[in-house]
Amino acid sequence: MSEDFYSALGVSQDASTEEIKRAYREQAAKYHPDVSDEPDAEEKFKKAKRAKEVLTDEEARQAYDRLGHENFEEARKRGGAGSAGGGGRGGGDPFGGFGGGGGDPFGGGAGGGGGLGDIFEQFFGGNGGGFGSRGRGGPQQGSDLRTELRIDLEDAYEGTERQFTVSRPERCPDCEGEGHPPDADAQTCPECNGQGQVTQVRQTAMGRVQQVQTCRHCGGEGTLYQETCSTCGGEGQVRNEATLTVTVPEGIHEGQTLRMEGEGAPGDRGAPNGDLLIDIRVEDHPDFERQDDDLVYDLAISFPQAVFGDSIEVPTIDGTVEFDLPAGTQSGETFRLEGKGMPRLRRRGRGDLHVVSQVVTPEDLNDDQREALEAFAEAGGEEVEVSQGFFKRLRNSL
Ligand SMILES: [Zn+2]
Ligand SMILES: [Zn+2]
Repeated sequence: MSEDFYSALGVSQDASTEEIKRAYREQAAKYHPDVSDEPDAEEKFKKAKRAKEVLTDEEARQAYDRLGHENFEEARKRGGAGSAGGGGRGGGDPFGGFGGGGGDPFGGGAGGGGGLGDIFEQFFGGNGGGFGSRGRGGPQQGSDLRTELRIDLEDAYEGTERQFTVSRPERCPDCEGEGHPPDADAQTCPECNGQGQVTQVRQTAMGRVQQVQTCRHCGGEGTLYQETCSTCGGEGQVRNEATLTVTVPEGIHEGQTLRMEGEGAPGDRGAPNGDLLIDIRVEDHPDFERQDDDLVYDLAISFPQAVFGDSIEVPTIDGTVEFDLPAGTQSGETFRLEGKGMPRLRRRGRGDLHVVSQVVTPEDLNDDQREALEAFAEAGGEEVEVSQGFFKRLRNSL
């Protein structure tokens, strides 16, 4: 199903740590959700990140080489198995970058959901006693959360730092996410005998199938507590208004997503938080229309300006510039002002400003103007049939 970490990074099995890091940087530059519009960029980015984390950790890499990709990932998800989880990096980030795609912790994502995990449980048995005795699926990483941030085009031009508040679940401070007071009386769950899971045997067309499920009675913990935490009502989480500051890079586009690592929903104890994904909304600008990194500006000019040309002050997103309108400009002609557009996101250079001339036809002429225009038409041998409406307006103005 999923390719292994070496091929995800495009390196060989004996690549050095340096090579792996370099390969990761290349992938990240290509697939970072801030940068890439590719639909599966986020997944590729997560995969590369995960690959780098494992392959640059010597212990984890050895375990990975020994177990193979699938087994390693499954073992890792269960928590505890192998040296990779608990060792050296001291509660670091063994699950980093893993969670399911798009804000749903249980949805699809890498590594295929609960079913496989259950099968794996069967192979490795109930995990009685010892260090990892919380057993079952292992601590679950917190889910990604999503929010929206509105900025205007000037912010996108300059880049900005924005403070914002987000209402999100956080680990309950009073019970550390356990859902019960630390000193609550504990009792082994009678439903599962403390295993945290129950085995059901079903008869199917393919024979008897053993299915291991998380014990619903104790939520898989194997233990029941006499008291629940009054702060969180046993949920282990409370909702909180968090004030965060995000750096919006210059050149960001409408619809792009920024990621704040670890600012999502809390993970189980021992597992990292999810990330906070910030969808950027760039407000429409009254003067400029954005086309990728270019800006388009409609420049209203008069008929004489179109005929004779003119030197005109044109607004840009960053002040005005002097623009020489050539003589004989047609309505709808486009002039390109190089480098006067938007900065390119995480790249050098800027887009252009396209100035589109719009010749404005005057609607309310004064007498002198009308005479001059009639003379103009006559001089050109033109016969203009003046409309009824014109006379009406003419009479009214006299
Ligand atoms: Zn609590
Ligand atoms: Zn139970």
